[in-house]
Amino acid sequence: METIVSYFEHIPSAHRAAILVGGIAFFWILESAAPMFRWKYRKVPHAGINIFFTATTVVVNFAMAFMLLSATDWAVANKVGILQWLPDMPLWAFTIIGLLLLDLIGAYFVHWAEHRVKWMWRFHLVHHTDTNIDTTTANRHHPGESVFRFVFTAAGAVIAGAPMWLVFMYQSMSVVLSQFNHANIQFPGWLDRTLSWVIVTPAMHRVHHHYTLPYTDTNFGNIFSVWDRLFGTFARVDQEKLVFGIDTHMNPEEHSSLGNLLGIPFQAYRAPVGAKFEGVESGTQQTESA
Ligand SMILES: [Zn+2]
Repeated sequence: METIVSYFEHIPSAHRAAILVGGIAFFWILESAAPMFRWKYRKVPHAGINIFFTATTVVVNFAMAFMLLSATDWAVANKVGILQWLPDMPLWAFTIIGLLLLDLIGAYFVHWAEHRVKWMWRFHLVHHTDTNIDTTTANRHHPGESVFRFVFTAAGAVIAGAPMWLVFMYQSMSVVLSQFNHANIQFPGWLDRTLSWVIVTPAMHRVHHHYTLPYTDTNFGNIFSVWDRLFGTFARVDQEKLVFGIDTHMNPEEHSSLGNLLGIPFQAYRAPVGAKFEGVESGTQQTESA
């Protein structure tokens, strides 16, 4: 355990890059070998746009890293934050509680807010415009969204009272879990269902990418599934019935043009169409998959 802590205390930027690139490569290979959906889409041009947004996310995170570093140093030095106020506990318990708190504030809560607050939605919407969800979708975030997500992560680190090594560990897990739960891979139903009691699985996250409400507003989690189950936003839908994308932007000229995607947050807000599609009723929170 101490070895893991000291690894994340000194994790080189090259290793962080390797986790990001290695993760995409790993899931890309699995997607090619055993895809869940056999779309007729060109995987490489599709990936181009998503990799562009992954690169801008990396740049934003790198440019703002000093903020996170000073926030965590300040919290630990001044004994501020939940982990700092809790009584002494074994390192493994400290790590799990810390990861849960960072996932709650830095992922679940900010994601939920992005779906509630209109100006945030206009940025986050770019992530939802993808009509072919695969592992490259994981970091399709408008640079503006990367900025406010980063601010929430920094705030989460202070509220949690997390030391920097824990934040690095969280970020590494968050990258890989997000690539995993966006991956277009065949994954046995029983295994997905079992894992979904602990982590966010592909079948769970795909529901979030269904093109209409109410499903777009379910399964906000990134690493742990407990937050959706606890806050009543968990949904399970028969995978065959899912249609990916977002109802307001189903036109390829809008969702497959980099220039337009960058401009979406500055265009007028569009209210959800709220269309239904055959087989899935609007308003049902829990549709058990076959
Ligand atoms: Zn979302």
